[in-house]
Amino acid sequence: FLKGKCALITGSTSGIGLAYARALAAEGADIVLNGFGEPDQIQALCEELAATSGGRAIFAAGDLTKREGTEAMVATAMAEFGAVDILINNAGMQHVAPVEDFPVEKWDAIIALNLTSAFDACRLCIPGMKAKGWGRILFTASAHSLTASPFKAAYVSAKHGIAGLTKTLALELATDGVTANCISPGYVWTPLVENQIPDTMKARNMTREQVINDVMLERQPSKQFVQPDELAALAVFLCRDAARNITGANYSVDGGWVAQ
Ligand code: NAD
Repeated sequence: FLKGKCALITGSTSGIGLAYARALAAEGADIVLNGFGEPDQIQALCEELAATSGGRAIFAAGDLTKREGTEAMVATAMAEFGAVDILINNAGMQHVAPVEDFPVEKWDAIIALNLTSAFDACRLCIPGMKAKGWGRILFTASAHSLTASPFKAAYVSAKHGIAGLTKTLALELATDGVTANCISPGYVWTPLVENQIPDTMKARNMTREQVINDVMLERQPSKQFVQPDELAALAVFLCRDAARNITGANYSVDGGWVAQ
């Protein structure tokens, strides 16, 4: 049902973003990938996605910690497809440290990537959506858009910002056929989660098993990691016409985390 629609997904060379790309391609969408990775692996992903969709899939490079990176990424998508119909702001990073030791450059990078790049991508893609009278803006927020954990000052601040941006966009675009929603996962088994285990071990003086069971899954009542394809299934639903009146919502997919 997405044939002829262009989906730009930030941070889609890995993890949750790649799951969104695969699920939207399976519905026929043209895909614009973004993120870091080996050129031949990215090329192989583009070929896989184009074969799945029967359409096109391209890579739009851009380091989204920099405004020029976001602008270059959107410009590449526009040059190929004319407009972006579905924008998923997904790229994100984490750093775990007590606030008084939090490296200021990590704060700046996390706010830039997790919050500012999403604002910039929206700002640049919305005119094309308004012109067509149809658009879908999604964000990968987090349970940390609704609640906090210690040692994640920048991440929690940025994700709460995403929740606010989502609501603001929903109001601004309510009569334009464009919806804005965020998806707020608990712990999803991806490289981002795996990579924060060593820092959490250090910050809390714990073993790997203690971090997984006592910190991560401790707050997830289901005691299971969320899988990326569960988030992708929700994203596909939110792109359907049946979801045209769902806007400004924050969907928890967290095994019950924020119900506590
Ligand atoms: P991941 O590390 O597997 O993927 C991150 C993606 O972002 C990769 O494609 C990477 O190349 C890209 N990226 C990183 N820095 C970038 C930059 N400067 N510019 C452009 N691209 C960049 O992570 P993931 O777990 O799939 O996370 C995706 C999103 O989901 C993030 O916003 C994250 O905060 C959010 N999230 C993840 C979890 C989880 O448990 N994994 C939970 C809640 C929210």
